[in-house]
Amino acid sequence: MDTKLQNLLDYTLDELKDLVKKEGLPAFRAKQIYQWIYQGKSFDEMSNIPKDMRTKLAERYTTGKLKIFRKLTSALDGTIKYLFDTGDGNLIESVLMKYKYGYTACISSQVGCKMGCTFCASAKCGFVRNLTPGECLGQIIGMNSDNDITITRVVIMGIGEPLDNYDNIIKFLHLLNSGDGLNISYRNVSLSTCGLADKIIQLAEENLPITLCISLHNPIDEQRSLIMPVNRKYALDKLLDACHIYKLRTNRRITFEYALIKGVNDSEEHAAHLIRLIKGILCHVNLIPVNEVSDTGFVTVNKEAVERFKSMLEKAGVNVTVRRSLGRDIEAACGQLRRSAISEGD
Ligand code: SAH
Repeated sequence: MDTKLQNLLDYTLDELKDLVKKEGLPAFRAKQIYQWIYQGKSFDEMSNIPKDMRTKLAERYTTGKLKIFRKLTSALDGTIKYLFDTGDGNLIESVLMKYKYGYTACISSQVGCKMGCTFCASAKCGFVRNLTPGECLGQIIGMNSDNDITITRVVIMGIGEPLDNYDNIIKFLHLLNSGDGLNISYRNVSLSTCGLADKIIQLAEENLPITLCISLHNPIDEQRSLIMPVNRKYALDKLLDACHIYKLRTNRRITFEYALIKGVNDSEEHAAHLIRLIKGILCHVNLIPVNEVSDTGFVTVNKEAVERFKSMLEKAGVNVTVRRSLGRDIEAACGQLRRSAISEGD
């Protein structure tokens, strides 16, 4: 998107009403325009808006429609991975997954990431900029309109650290939930963070009943700091305190994500530490065999290792699931497609 142009998807309906007034247009046009942009339409397609009005708007604004730069469909399970072009030379990655209960979008919150987790493909490409609320919405609208579907669940688990883009993500959540827009229930939204404890507490105060997912990956401080630099700033005690506060405020069960890496965090000792760490907190552990990312040196675990770890947790009464991996054949995981597209351009 041309950076000089304002993205209309960044606006609430009330803000758009003000804007329309400022542009000297009748107020009822705001609702019409809002409906079009939420359908992923361009100004050209707004058939009930007079042409001169559209031309005038297009001089200052964009509809927020993201161009599809690349699209890959999994032959295994129909998962679709998108690379969207933000119009300023950046690519963002989003994934559309189909489950029995409907469509789920996994969206990115930033172009790149600053967090530097050593197992993650996104970290390898550095940080470029935050996404705006409209660019987060644009990913969902783009996938809805490309497939003529209605996405009902959203996970903020794509590229970027959402709590490092706090204000934009909060506005995005409000827009996502708004009856004027996509009308997606907060309960159908999950936000994943590497553990910015101060922001987790701030999020608890927003009182939004979304699901908070914590990328834990190691229950021992010195070891977690080696794979997740964020742990040097917010060690496990701080992180767990924040989780307790989040639970108290929202009464929502927390999900701890745990990517099993062979020989790194998959031992009996790790399971025992993990059990102790999360004791007494209403939560659920999601085990993920780590996706192998080239030049990280990390190796994934086999089924037996996953089962072994899982049963240790279960014996201690921990609620645990193993994440089903979708789109294995299309690099659907964790920033890998963007990374390969960026390196093609080198
Ligand atoms: N920054 C946020 C959200 C983006 S990452 C966070 O850290 O949670 C989304 C999830 O994918 C996180 O749980 C992250 O730790 C995990 N992840 C990253 N690289 C991975 C890999 N190679 N294998 C498995 N999970 C990975």
